[in-house]
Amino acid sequence: MKKIIFDHGKPLIGAYYFFPKDLNQAKQELSILVESGVNHLWLFIDKYFRKDNPLPRAVFEEILALLDEYNLSFVPVIGEYISLEKHPEVRIELGDGTFSSDPRYWNMGCFRHPHSLEWAGHEVREFLLAYHDHKLLCRVDGKLLMSFAHEAYYRTDTPEMGGDQMRPNCYCPYCREAFIQYILTKYQDVAKYNRTHQTAIKNWQDLKLPRDPRPDPLLWVEFIQNHAEAIPNFLRSLIAVANEVTPVFSTHECNDFYPGSWQTTLTGNDIWKMAAETDLGHEDMYPLEFDQQYQIYIYGLLKDIMHSAMGFSRPYTGNGQAFTPWVIKARLPKNSLHEQVYTSLIHGVSGFVWWLGQDYQLWREMKAPNELLEWWLPRLAEFEPERARIALLYSYTTMTLAQNDEHPMDLQLLYMALRQLGIPVDIITEAQINSGVLEERDYRVLLLPAVSALSKETRDQLIMYVTKGGTLLADYAAEISVGEFCSVVEFSRGEPGERPRFYRTRSDLSSGGELFIPVESARAGQPLFDSGHNGRIWAEFDSGVPAVVEWPVGRGRIIGIGSMLGIDFSNFPGHLHLNKMFPFLIRMRDDARKLLALLLESCGWRPEIVSNRPEVEIGVFHGRGEQKSRLCWAVNHLPMSTNCTVSIRGGTEMGSASGFITKVEKVDGGLRVDLELPELSGAWFEIL
Ligand SMILES: [Zn+2]
Repeated sequence: MKKIIFDHGKPLIGAYYFFPKDLNQAKQELSILVESGVNHLWLFIDKYFRKDNPLPRAVFEEILALLDEYNLSFVPVIGEYISLEKHPEVRIELGDGTFSSDPRYWNMGCFRHPHSLEWAGHEVREFLLAYHDHKLLCRVDGKLLMSFAHEAYYRTDTPEMGGDQMRPNCYCPYCREAFIQYILTKYQDVAKYNRTHQTAIKNWQDLKLPRDPRPDPLLWVEFIQNHAEAIPNFLRSLIAVANEVTPVFSTHECNDFYPGSWQTTLTGNDIWKMAAETDLGHEDMYPLEFDQQYQIYIYGLLKDIMHSAMGFSRPYTGNGQAFTPWVIKARLPKNSLHEQVYTSLIHGVSGFVWWLGQDYQLWREMKAPNELLEWWLPRLAEFEPERARIALLYSYTTMTLAQNDEHPMDLQLLYMALRQLGIPVDIITEAQINSGVLEERDYRVLLLPAVSALSKETRDQLIMYVTKGGTLLADYAAEISVGEFCSVVEFSRGEPGERPRFYRTRSDLSSGGELFIPVESARAGQPLFDSGHNGRIWAEFDSGVPAVVEWPVGRGRIIGIGSMLGIDFSNFPGHLHLNKMFPFLIRMRDDARKLLALLLESCGWRPEIVSNRPEVEIGVFHGRGEQKSRLCWAVNHLPMSTNCTVSIRGGTEMGSASGFITKVEKVDGGLRVDLELPELSGAWFEIL
């Protein structure tokens, strides 16, 4: 793990904070925060440094004096730097010539409009010129930690609040020019472009920006790829402005629309591209804030995405939610803050930043979780999270072209199944595959969840990976007729009405009984391979046709699953107890998870530490250098206490440990540890 200890000696445990007008109220609040173990604040500085009409500097000075009084340092955050109402020229232009002008989207104008950079840059410069050597700033290796352009995205609506879905953008003159430059760089001459795209444009200015994937899917993919460069380019330029004044350790809170929907491709958000511009990964806790039974597995998934986006080596923080969900008014469940911190630690964070509401009781409840962070953040540098041998493909191209949520949903739910099996997993992109990540990180298995569109370059990489001995596990992906883009596995498409009802494993292949899985995904079909070769059939549909087929390719193999396994497994990436309470609303089919385990075991892979309860998530860290022990984390994702047994391969005795451990037993080949975990609570222990 990458350690972040500020130069003043404290670990990164902070909270976003908005100063109230009333300084007495601020004093009361700061004392609660300090008491609860928060050592610095993340402050939006826009009001005091923006280009038009900033508040008097004396007001900011008062705030700093107050921070000093409470021994709190701070991280400056650039957020609302330009007003869409006062500066309509920066609005996002839609395909029909209209504009996205809802002022709720604060800084969400077009990031390519020069005014956006000018205004954000003004704030950055003004602040740094005046305060770059201020003693209360948080520094890492002498560089000042600063957050640039909070939650930058091309937002055209608020679908998560009941609004319309996102619309394609941006068609403003600056984006048009950027796209032409992108195409020009790629093709060099018009004739080559015309040959590839089967068009007859005379010069680049004739190029028409696409409105949707048809009739030219390649042009659409190119448009979306170029769109995804706008925010990273903006971040790079803005961070450069700061570095001209003083060296910064940069971050950016990646937005909270991601990665729940294909619509993220329209918001110009590719976390991997944005994270590449920053020194510190930083993500929002979106999955928690909309839902009173929050989606804890997506919370973990976001951290794993950030781990991958930071190149598997650079640091990232977790964000925490110490406020009431604001869409459905309900309190966070008891111990939720513990669960967030344990989950974040399991998923490898190097720091933690809370978001606060007005509920002081929740602020006080941060104390114990912050003590855990205070203890572990400095020490975790001696450990490395267990290396994932299984990877899941997050396919931007599929989302770009399919324009539905089958892929991200299937991915999220398969991810939950893997985590419930105790399996660490890397989330990887097509760009990473194209640059050799499969070989570099030596994955045994790559899962393609409902991946229906890949470029030829990526498909070639996948086939090479399999030929050299890898296993590709692809579940059902609807065929979308999109030029050169398709999946690596084909499926038969039945006539309407022919949809299978279930699939079950062949009894000769699964010891411990037949697995029976109803088909819940909207579509299904028999995996098709080259004719004339008998694949191994793992499961059949009710009609008797093969549903899960394994096929040798070179030294490796492909396994095709004729249904979307993640969606068949569950329809909600959250608490398990809901499926007992509301089986008509929430499904969780244990057999689907068992099928996944069976297929992965056939690759000779099983986790070294497992819990006998899927709802208790396990994380394993290996000591590095002199430190030879392993560290095991467990967190109970049930809002009720639970007993569980953790089985550890290897290891002779337990070292230091937290509470909630009731029994430790030596067994053949390892250890067995019994835990009694209260609701949403965690435990840890060292294995020697
Ligand atoms: Zn634009």
